[in-house]
Amino acid sequence: MKRCVACTRTYDGADWTCPACGHAPEVHAGFPCLAPHLLKAGDAFDARSFDGLAKLEEGSFWFGPRNRLIGWAFSRYFPDAKTFFEIGCGTGIVLKQLAAERPNLSVHGADIFVEGLPHAAERVGQRASFIQVDALNLPFDREFDAVGAFDVIEHIDDDARALKELWRTVKPGGGAMIIVPRHKFLWSRVDELAQHKRRYSGRELAERMREAGFEIVRQLTFGMLTLPLQVISRRLLPQKGERLVDLLELNQPAWQTALLKALLWLDQIPIRMGVNYPCGASLLVIARRPH
Ligand SMILES: [Zn+2]
Repeated sequence: MKRCVACTRTYDGADWTCPACGHAPEVHAGFPCLAPHLLKAGDAFDARSFDGLAKLEEGSFWFGPRNRLIGWAFSRYFPDAKTFFEIGCGTGIVLKQLAAERPNLSVHGADIFVEGLPHAAERVGQRASFIQVDALNLPFDREFDAVGAFDVIEHIDDDARALKELWRTVKPGGGAMIIVPRHKFLWSRVDELAQHKRRYSGRELAERMREAGFEIVRQLTFGMLTLPLQVISRRLLPQKGERLVDLLELNQPAWQTALLKALLWLDQIPIRMGVNYPCGASLLVIARRPH
């Protein structure tokens, strides 16, 4: 079901106009904007960087292995899901992967920034729909078989409410996958430039998800094999440059990218076998909305 962001009543149908109060979203760049008052929220993240980001993502050491883990978790824990909704879909790098792996999956993406959505629509194609939203006022109610937020809620002040909103969008019995950066001791200039509000401990994210109504299916840490390099690069070496792309190591030499990718691929073998690492760069929580 859809849920009107103005009057909060729920309704069925393809149309975004609320049959109860008549509220209709603005349209920008061809996408329904359910939170137009946030369109100029450029202080949270530089929207212009989406153009560059879409290109850098493809070659990055991080997004490929992260996508592979998300794809694996999705088919392992939610093999029957027919619909998937991602909040903070950016330029669509995750949805493209999930759509390619599951030919019958219908995918839906939302982001506070409308600027990334044309890239996402181009990447994913016909089987997808995209909207601009406020993560704290989502326009759905018990709509999707599974939902995801990948490196998103650490950007949101009220992450508890964002999780609650996400919980509402999932059908009872449906699933959720949430990725966040782990370990407060890894906090660095990268987190500041990326506009992170926090990094998480394992217990913290699980607790917040339970408070939102989810049941934890599995909580796992990944990026353990790259953790020593991350500590050296982010805490011990002097920081090179002030731009996020420099600090995120997105434009590093090819051999470094290849090494990090290889480590992150190896990292996932024990995870697939059920091993839960005690430490690592990121947390993935797989959860379910109880019936
Ligand atoms: Zn309404």
